[in-house]
Amino acid sequence: MTEAVRAPDGGLTAGASELKFRDPTRARELAGALEGVCEAIGRDRISVMHVCGSHEQSIAKYGLRTILPRRLDVIMGPGCPVCVTDVPEVDEAVVLAADGIRIATYGDMVRVPGTTRSLADAKAEGARIDVVYSAAQAVEIARGTDEEVVFFASGFETTAVATAAVILADPPSNFSVLSAHKYIPPVMEIVAEMPGTRVEGFLAAGHAATITGSSLFEPFVDRHGIPVVVAGFEPLDVLAGLLKLVELVRDGEPRVVNMYPRCVTAEGNRNAQERLWRVFRTVGGRWRGIAHVPNGNLRLRDEFAHVDARKRFRIEVQRLWSHAPSALTQMCICGDIMAGIASPSDCDLFGKECTPEAPVGACMVSNEGTCKIWQQYGGHPDL
Ligand code: SF4
Repeated sequence: MTEAVRAPDGGLTAGASELKFRDPTRARELAGALEGVCEAIGRDRISVMHVCGSHEQSIAKYGLRTILPRRLDVIMGPGCPVCVTDVPEVDEAVVLAADGIRIATYGDMVRVPGTTRSLADAKAEGARIDVVYSAAQAVEIARGTDEEVVFFASGFETTAVATAAVILADPPSNFSVLSAHKYIPPVMEIVAEMPGTRVEGFLAAGHAATITGSSLFEPFVDRHGIPVVVAGFEPLDVLAGLLKLVELVRDGEPRVVNMYPRCVTAEGNRNAQERLWRVFRTVGGRWRGIAHVPNGNLRLRDEFAHVDARKRFRIEVQRLWSHAPSALTQMCICGDIMAGIASPSDCDLFGKECTPEAPVGACMVSNEGTCKIWQQYGGHPDL
């Protein structure tokens, strides 16, 4: 059963909900408490993973690594949806665009490299690409034209709920969806089962848990004996979440703890879950650079074939595969970074051939990508 930490009683781990979320004094107290717990564990290295680009942004933006215990390794896992969108999924969108279909998609997706080209390259060659901020905006574009409009949809289950909502709201007949949506829990299984994994606990994303509920992680904890703490995104949310997580590691207590009770409940948003699973089903598929993830991809159910771009159009991505990816692309280690076995600074291209202005890999494109975050804010613990 999930513990929700609600009422602070002055204890440092109590109630992230009632902390002043950027208070430097409380931040130092939490960091000191983290130091004490890590010392009590006594090992040279304690490794935990978060699976959310927003957590990495908070850690990097507020310089939290500079106050974390040196022996605590907070690894960014596969928590950037743009980064894990697989190359063939980008290729599908590029082929549709090259065939004259109008593509609407989120801004970051435009520059993500496919096998040889991105949507930005297709646009430079004359394709119609619209950047949208929501699935609803993609529907509006379709309503305003007779052209076929395909919404190239990326994001985890939280974002997929919005895609499901527009599909259920009777979109126009020229609208369809190319789903690259992903489902986070199965990839946590992959990380936990990786041979030689160092991950001793997971910090789960608070926003996704508002939909799924914190109890979603209980079967994972039961299976793997690894604690999960749901945390928010303010600096003190992250520090309080990490403190609770290392306490659970110290105490050998594999449990789910909800440290974001101001937004997250155990059962989540049932209405949103109902919409999500009415429209989508899980299927196995590759996550870029990581692995085949059983049940890791969200695809439209058969009853929604009429809005499924994969059923509506013949998409022949093989024609892109006659060109080998560039030598630089082959040097990208995004997959190792998202699996927690490498850092951006381990990549020879980081900050040199690969920058946010000229990204080689997907991790340098998105604001939630580790490489872009490190490049923007500096992410190395020795800052
Ligand atoms: Fe890939 Fe660029 Fe990151 Fe290197 S720095 S891993 S090339 S995205």
